[in-house]
Amino acid sequence: MSHLFANYNRLGVAFESGQGCWLKATDGREFLDFLSGIAVTSLGHAHPRMVKALQAQVSRLLHVSNLYEIPEQEKAATHLSRVCQQERAFFCNSGAEANECLIKLARRYAHEHGLPPVITVTHNSFHGRTLATVSATGNPKYQQGFEPLVPGFQFVDFNDLKAARESLEQCCAILVEPIQGEGGVIPATSDYLGGLKSLCEEQGKLLLLDEVQTGIGRTGSWLAAEHYGVKADATALAKGLGGGVPVGAVLTSEKLSQLMGPGSHGTTFGGNPLASIAISTVLEVIEEEGLLERVRTNGHLLREGLKRLAGVTEVRGVGLMLAVITEDPAAEIAERAYQRGLLVNAVRPHAVRLAPPLIITETEVEKGLEILEACLCPQSSVGAKSASSA
Ligand SMILES: *Cc1c(COP(=O)(O)O)cnc(C)c1O
Repeated sequence: MSHLFANYNRLGVAFESGQGCWLKATDGREFLDFLSGIAVTSLGHAHPRMVKALQAQVSRLLHVSNLYEIPEQEKAATHLSRVCQQERAFFCNSGAEANECLIKLARRYAHEHGLPPVITVTHNSFHGRTLATVSATGNPKYQQGFEPLVPGFQFVDFNDLKAARESLEQCCAILVEPIQGEGGVIPATSDYLGGLKSLCEEQGKLLLLDEVQTGIGRTGSWLAAEHYGVKADATALAKGLGGGVPVGAVLTSEKLSQLMGPGSHGTTFGGNPLASIAISTVLEVIEEEGLLERVRTNGHLLREGLKRLAGVTEVRGVGLMLAVITEDPAAEIAERAYQRGLLVNAVRPHAVRLAPPLIITETEVEKGLEILEACLCPQSSVGAKSASSA
């Protein structure tokens, strides 16, 4: 009998090791990882730089407390500020916590400026599982049975600028994902984010972006907002930021960071030496290995390859954050892929999500495409071929 909560639907496989884009199961099977633990292991598994940096840090210090100065945290903040063009960082431990910080920041802003302490959020969004972030999530599936929800959120349709404009008077901030991830990989339309930014600027409201899944190279730029030419007032990061070490962060301006003065907010673990070294290493490797460029190139290759496959009706997403819209149920495709040694995930009934590590090679993109082709048309002879070579 398991002594764990039964809150996850787990697949019957466990992994014992990994290398780059490959995972090895305890029964010896090998899998090509096109999911990265849901957009987390951005440098793949056991990246030599990561192994070395973490091993060295573990032998020095794991944790000290934010009661003290943490040079590793300063270094991570400096690097993050430079690449993401923001002035200040707050470190926490997960995406939900990063969004909690955005929500608290918005509440402080509202109180300071005499605005309604209400945040406009969108239907079909996902912001996390804590009580406030689940209340901000536009999907009743995650909220049912946890009522009363946290008040102070109003919902509008995603990509509906008019609805956002009409909601603005009754709020202090707007919180959106540039590309809805759990919602099925749905990018903001080209004028949506820019439109929100202008509205917010005009009316003195905050534009808060949840880049927990899209941030840190996933879409081929440091932040997905860059594709839209938009700079948020504050941004939440997590998933890919620590390359597998649990971390989260909020980035904002010097001025807005002052809303969170001494004692206003905090966390025991956030930005501890181990987490900070993981963040710095991820950022360094992305720069030194030119991974943003690589994500753009290989993302393009993957997308074009997917579009050519029979049984695919649409390909959504940017860079290496993609969803394939399939004629067959996505769960069936994901199961067939698993049987053939490829890890993907059914993010919606007809949407298969692909989020391979940023370090993926052209050969691995092609290998993944070959397996997917076989899964989309399981009767064809192509299927038998890739199964045997997987
Ligand atoms: C995964 C995710 C979260 C929640 O992150 P956790 O680390 O699971 O708390 C929040 N927002 C978005 C957009 C996500 O993809």
